[in-house]
Order: sequence, then C-alpha cells, then structure tokens
Amino acid sequence: MSQLLDQIRTITGPEGVLTQGVNQRSTDGWGARECMAPAIIRPATTDELSEVMKCCHKAGQKIVTLGGGTNMTRGCAAGTDELVISMERMNRIDVIDPVNRTMTVQSGVSLQRVQEHAETHGLFFALDLGARGTATIGGNIATNAGGNQVIRYGMTREQVLGLEVVLSDGRILSSMNQMLKNNAGYDLKHLFIGSEGTLGIITRAVLRLRPHMPATASALVATDQFSKMAKLLNHMEQYLGGKLSAFETMWQNYYGIACHGQNMGLPPLSDNYPFYILIESTGAHQTTDTKQFLLALDEAMSEGLIVDAVLAESGQQQQAMWAIRDNIPALTAFQPIILFDISLPISEMEGYLDDMQKNLSAISQDLFVAILGHLGDGNLHVAVQLHEDTRKGKAAVEHAVYAPLQRRGGSISGEHGIGLEKKDYLHFSRNKVEIEVMRQLKQLFDPSDILNCGKVI
Ligand SMILES: Cc1cc2nc3c(=O)[nH]c(=O)nc-3n(C[C@H](O)[C@H](O)[C@H](O)COP(=O)(O)OP(=O)(O)OC[C@H]3O[C@@H](n4cnc5c(N)ncnc54)[C@H](O)[C@@H]3O)c2cc1C
Repeated sequence: MSQLLDQIRTITGPEGVLTQGVNQRSTDGWGARECMAPAIIRPATTDELSEVMKCCHKAGQKIVTLGGGTNMTRGCAAGTDELVISMERMNRIDVIDPVNRTMTVQSGVSLQRVQEHAETHGLFFALDLGARGTATIGGNIATNAGGNQVIRYGMTREQVLGLEVVLSDGRILSSMNQMLKNNAGYDLKHLFIGSEGTLGIITRAVLRLRPHMPATASALVATDQFSKMAKLLNHMEQYLGGKLSAFETMWQNYYGIACHGQNMGLPPLSDNYPFYILIESTGAHQTTDTKQFLLALDEAMSEGLIVDAVLAESGQQQQAMWAIRDNIPALTAFQPIILFDISLPISEMEGYLDDMQKNLSAISQDLFVAILGHLGDGNLHVAVQLHEDTRKGKAAVEHAVYAPLQRRGGSISGEHGIGLEKKDYLHFSRNKVEIEVMRQLKQLFDPSDILNCGKVI
C-alpha cells in the first residue's frame, strides 16, 4: 500500500494524499465515522484521477468514492483495505450558459453552490434537499437524489444532460452532452446516475437549468384522514397546473416532535391533527399566483379536504414551515432508530401502513414510529425505533417494514439508494433477472471489483 501511495503522490502532489485525521471523516448523513481507510486521495482534475485509477486498477486496489458524505445508506463506509477517493478538490463551476440553460461543473461542487450560481443568472437548478450545503452534485447524481421538488421537476436524473466519468481502469468516458434530445445510440449517462459509485467515478456534469420562478406561495394545512390527503393532492395539481412544486406530508407522530425541536419557535398549527401537509406553488407572478393558490385552498376547505390551514406571509414564515419538514434530526432523541425510505403507489399506502404497524406491534407494543414523506412522489420516510439495538433486533424491524411492501409492488428505496444498509433486501424490490443484469453491468464496468466493492449488489 505505501508503494502505491508514493506512486499516487507523484500524480497528485502531497496535498492529494491525506493520511492524518482520516478516521475522523463523517461517512453518512447521521455523522457515522466508518472510514477505516489508510488514506484519502484528493485528485484536483479528471486527468489526475484517471492516472490514479490506472495505478489502483493495476494494483487491484479497492476504492470508495466520497462526495459530501451525507448519504443515508452507509454508502461511503470504507474498510482498512480500501482507499477513499474524495472529490473535495474538484469543486469548480466551469461555465454557465444562460441561452441553452446549462451549467457545467466538476462533481465535487456542493448542491447549494450550484443553486446559488444559477440564481445569480436568473436561472434555477431544480434539485433541493436538506443536506444542500454539504452534499455534492456528484453524490446527488450517484444516488439519483430526489428531494423536495420531484413532483414538479423529477429526480436528479431529469436535471442531468451530460456526464464525464472515470472508469475503473482509468479511462475517461466523456459524454458531456448539452442537449435535451440526443437519441444517437445508448444514453450511457443513465447507467451512472443512481449507480452509487459502483460503475464509475463521476468527475463532471452538464446540468439542466430552468427559468427562476420568483413567486412562491406556501401553506401548512392539516387534515383528518389519509384519503383526504390523496384527494387534496389531485385537487391542488388540478387547480395549480404545473405550478405545484411541493406536497410534503407529515403524520402527527412526526409533526408533534419536529415542530417542538430546538430553535423552532411557535408551531404554525397545533399538534393534534392526524396529518399535516406543506404545500407550495412557484410561478412568475406573486399576486396572481397567490390568488390562485388561495382559491385552491379555499375550495379544498369547503370540500372538507382541509380542517385547518396557515398561509406563509413572509419568507421567514415559509422557512419556519420547511424547518419543521426538515427537522428529521429531532428524531435522534429516539435513537436507536432506522429511517426507512420506502416507495409505493399512493392507493396502496394506507393499507401498507396498517400491515406495517401490525408487524411492528407483534415485535413490541410500544415501538415509536414517525412518518413523513413526499406523498406526491409515492415516497414515505418511516422512522422506527429499535426495541433491541442488535443485529437481530434490526433485522426484525426491517422485515416488519419491508415484507408488506413486496406484495403491494413497493420499493425498499424511493430516493436514498441501497449502499450497504439495504443490500440484503434488494431482492424485495428487484427480481432475479434484474439483479442478474445489474451484476453483468458491474462485471462489464468494473471487472476487478474495485469500485465501492460490496455495495448495492
Ligand atoms: C438532512 C438531510 C436531508 C436529506 N434529504 C434528502 C432528500 O430529500 N432526498 C434524497 O434523495 N436524499 C436526501 N438526503 C441524502 C443525501 O443528501 C443524498 O443521498 C445526496 O445525494 C448525497 O450526496 P453526497 O455528496 O453527500 O454523497 P455521498 O454521501 O458522499 O455519497 C453517496 C454515494 O454516492 C457515491 N458517490 C459520491 N460522489 C460520487 C462521484 N463523484 N462519483 C461516483 N460516486 C459517487 C458514494 O460512493 C456513495 O455511494 C438527505 C441527507 C441529509 C443529511
């Protein structure tokens, strides 16, 4: 290993190889420190990374790619026999093209910097999530991140036009397409989007931008039945057309905790309703858009779909509502917990949650459960407290949550991915042939199995 590190130093310079403080690095969104690697390699350019990978490939050296380390799946955990490749020095915004509405960036740039840079040009990058300040574009692409605006703009996949990837043998696959339409053969970028670092290392991307929408209207509403939330979603989509940009749901068991967290201020609505929904529309005209938004809410109220509501009257109030939605860290008070990220058709959700609750009650009557999610995308986050912080206790809860998904056509991951955390359950959501083809792709792109070895499949 030390010979290989010397070789790498000649490529990257001394600042490209860190051997101090490596184990202190956080490797996931919960702050876990599963970085046992002897060194972190920090290339500054694609060419440097390409040379590094040629050396690693030749030496059969396993590597783990690290972006912002905010994943929820132990996706960046690294063993003592692995090297970490961090993208932290590849954080340049190359160019923004306002005419074609694209931005070309290195993959280590943070999501927030991309958002802010787009805004300074009157444009908008349509991906947003709570970890925006730390998560990198490379990590977002590698996990095909979802976030708060999928209902309107789709997942990360929809925001990427082109990619540059360093393959396991060091070859540079440049597919830096700038166009919306390009059907010249296979669209290779899609293989890497959502591949969680197992097929290649993303080094640069061409991102799709949209016009900036300056007018936002937000409301926090409460309702008393699950079926009303589903009806309300259809109602708002119908009334607001393409302007509905968020429909974030919170069950009472989540809202009651999240709204009372540290520095949270007074809750916008009392905490005794069964369901809460943060609804947002974005458009070009504040007055007309807000009027349309209010009309839609009024009508929903008179139809009985909403039992209480509060409209955000300032940016500050809007932020306070989002702070509740994003206050997932408040759940750490219930550690040990598992945060599930399941996905299933809305029509199946209520029945599924009943089945899940029955399974959990069979383990223990008083397990704490909190539910929130992107209902419009069919994606729920379910936090379940472990009755027993052991492998066996964890597996029992995982089975209780995952088993009823299978027969309802659901998925064990809506947006966070598989990593190490959900690998044992991949077959709950993917059939035999799907997994076989995934293995064949892995073999094709990484025949020596050196990229994020043992993750996903
Ligand atoms: C508070 C909070 C809120 C969150 N909200 C959401 C949400 O709403 N929606 C959502 O989808 N996720 C959410 N996440 C999870 C996380 O932010 C996303 O998965 C994010 O996309 C990860 O980006 P990252 O740069 O931190 O990637 P990392 O955690 O560093 O890596 C994630 C995976 O991608 C691989 N990888 C990283 N960079 C590259 C690269 N350049 N090339 C190839 N592989 C790479 C890693 O090896 C790993 O397997 C949230 C996390 C937190 C802490």
